[in-house]
Amino acid sequence: MLLKRLEAYGFKSFADKLEVEFDEGVTAIVGPNGSGKSNITDAIRWVLGEQNVRNLRGTKAEDIIFTGSSTRRALGMAEVSVTFDNTDKTLPLDFQEIMITRRIYRTGESEFLINKTKCRLKDIFNLFADTGLGKNSISVISQNKVDEVLNTKPEERRYFFEECAGITKYRDRKKEAKRKLDATENNLVRLRDIIGEIEKQLGPLEEQAKKTKRYNEIHDDYQACNLTKILSKYEALVQESDAYTAEIKGYQDQRQQLENSVNVSEAEKLVKQQETQQLE
Ligand code: ATP
Repeated sequence: MLLKRLEAYGFKSFADKLEVEFDEGVTAIVGPNGSGKSNITDAIRWVLGEQNVRNLRGTKAEDIIFTGSSTRRALGMAEVSVTFDNTDKTLPLDFQEIMITRRIYRTGESEFLINKTKCRLKDIFNLFADTGLGKNSISVISQNKVDEVLNTKPEERRYFFEECAGITKYRDRKKEAKRKLDATENNLVRLRDIIGEIEKQLGPLEEQAKKTKRYNEIHDDYQACNLTKILSKYEALVQESDAYTAEIKGYQDQRQQLENSVNVSEAEKLVKQQETQQLE
């Protein structure tokens, strides 16, 4: 994996767009004191995810944005991109070239991009984990860093070696797995509490279930009896209704007979009236 290119705009002293091409072999940057040589290594550390602004010789995040000079106005954002040749697939992404970009605005907003696609800082850390370019790695050695490495406490020095030896990823995974195990253990404790609580409620619940079952049985019987009662009442009513219908029918026949005899009498009366008229 080869660092091919660095582009910076608005980062520290780079008010104009800076582009540095790194060929194979050694690239040296020469300039007078204060001309911005260290700002280049700061830019590389920053784009690779440096979060401690003190390691970039600043005190707050916005310190890395060009603050202006006697002839130029301050800028509102800083952007740095580094491009790696990934033909040897050191980085686990299926691209020949990988460009990492980091931006920060004066509003405090910041963003990371991998090949111009937005991503999280965590993605950058994961991408470089165990390549020797991870966070806190010593692949970028800034001023005083050599002294720092030599004079640091043995445990901290061990951290540098671990990073270089490529075991950080596994240590991070172990930490993550331990965190998950602890969380699972806590969940288990809570589950046991809940099971204990539920077990306590089991006795009364069983009693209630029995009562409910008994109630349901009685209720079913009651429903069945009720239905039978309604049915027999209905049948009695039907019989009563049939009897009344037959009675009504009898009265209707009777009425018909009476009407017939009235009609006959009426006809006889008419004949008698005619006979009376003739006699008269
Ligand atoms: P030396 O050789 O003395 O270490 P150097 O060439 O490494 O110097 P740097 O330390 O990289 O130079 O750059 C420091 C310069 O960057 C200073 O002139 C400083 O004013 C300028 N600088 C740093 N931060 C900013 C910023 N936010 N805006 C504008 N200029 C900045």
